[in-house]
Amino acid sequence: MIIDGKKYSEEIKNEIKREINELKKKKNEIPCLVVILIGSFEPSKIYVRNKEKVANEVGIKSKILKYPVDIKEQEILNKIKELNNDKDVHGILVQLPLPKQINVKNIINSIDPKKDVDGFNPINVGNLASGYKSIVPCTPLGCMILIKKIEKKIDGKHAVIIGRSNLNGKPMSQLLLKENCTVTIVHSKTKDIKTECKKADILVAAAGVPNLVRGSWIKDGSIVIDVGINKINGKLVGDVHFDEAKEKARAITPVPGGVGPMTIACLLKNTLECFKDL
Ligand code: NAD
Repeated sequence: MIIDGKKYSEEIKNEIKREINELKKKKNEIPCLVVILIGSFEPSKIYVRNKEKVANEVGIKSKILKYPVDIKEQEILNKIKELNNDKDVHGILVQLPLPKQINVKNIINSIDPKKDVDGFNPINVGNLASGYKSIVPCTPLGCMILIKKIEKKIDGKHAVIIGRSNLNGKPMSQLLLKENCTVTIVHSKTKDIKTECKKADILVAAAGVPNLVRGSWIKDGSIVIDVGINKINGKLVGDVHFDEAKEKARAITPVPGGVGPMTIACLLKNTLECFKDL
């Protein structure tokens, strides 16, 4: 079974649209997401444009604030402070990566945790790790929604995650632990990744290495979630060798059309949650 991320993301977006229409009638207010874009890194520009487009589709107001690549860190911190105090702004996102002169940690720490739609602020990271209510990073949140579409109860399942980034691997492990899975994280220094992956009832690949996971790494009947987005000869491929893996997995996400659309839908979901909680 191919997991249709596009279809599930549409369901989420339609639900958000419906809720926003209701809120508009009741409160005469709509959520507002502000995206800070620094420099002109092409993929970042594309992501930001996409986020704005989809936000507008569901009725979320979105503003992109653009800064030159040599902007001083303090200027961005001042702007974030202003946005934190602006009651008409409900979500703040700083598009990564940032230029060298800007310390990512300082920027992420300065965003009000209640407006931190990416869920990267240490308060949200800590809440997630403690199993408390928190804003969850969009990609792992999207992966978890897809996994639950395939199987509602995943208690006791063995989940293996490839990659340990703050963006993907680590929060994914927290979400799977919360669902009572037995969780293994493998990474670039792991000795025998294949043996670990073969034990996985649920495999989440987030390494950024094209076609890393071969069919022979996949346990029969498993759920395979491919987070990777890699370009080979102008074509997008995931971290999983799709044609081989689909013969073994019970359900698998394609690239493109799997996790990617879910990430944006979950960003809007987080923005709406921030709006409701503020
Ligand atoms: P990252 O570079 O921050 O982290 C990669 C992780 O993979 C590291 O922990 C590293 O130890 C591990 N790794 C690297 N090579 C490995 C190997 N050969 N074997 C095992 N582990 C290895 O990357 P990231 O930001 O977590 O992104 C990972 C991938 O996910 C990238 O392809 C990125 O483009 C993609 N991504 C997709 C979405 C989406 O919406 N689908 C969102 C964010 C990132």
